[in-house]
Amino acid sequence: MTKNQKIAAGTGAVLTAFVLYKYFVKKIKPIVKPLIKRGCDTNSMGCGNYGASRNHAGDHNGQDYVVTEGQPVYAPITGTITRKAYPYADDLQWQGFVIENLQYYFKVFYCIPVTGIVGTKVKAGDVVAYAQDISKKHGSAMTPHIHLEAYLKTPVGVELIDPNTLY
Ligand SMILES: [Zn+2]
Repeated sequence: MTKNQKIAAGTGAVLTAFVLYKYFVKKIKPIVKPLIKRGCDTNSMGCGNYGASRNHAGDHNGQDYVVTEGQPVYAPITGTITRKAYPYADDLQWQGFVIENLQYYFKVFYCIPVTGIVGTKVKAGDVVAYAQDISKKHGSAMTPHIHLEAYLKTPVGVELIDPNTLY
């Protein structure tokens, strides 16, 4: 190997490592600050962890984070706020949003998106919504929280993942 070939090989290895880092261990920004996981509430209000059982339908497909009403909710990634999300089809006061980029698709519930933000591009860490108090719907035994649902985009569609793997 000539000196230039060695430099080229070394540069290639560094670039490959960087690409692998970007695509496989990329972390996301906190959805709220501080990032406090919701534990289990009393009175059968359920638990906030990913995979927690739910008596109505399947398992909990997101991770809940403790909030107080009105606190800012941040974009976890640089991407586009593609739509508002409504966790309850029959009760539209409870809102949220979908944010996505080429790699991820996130659904966030129990927050009011900033006016005019739907359809716009945002940077990771931007304020994109304000938390609601979901205990007002389910009862004071529930810890107010937002719900973060994470999907990885793949060539064949989206795959639900545990948001905890991204922090
Ligand atoms: Zn949840």
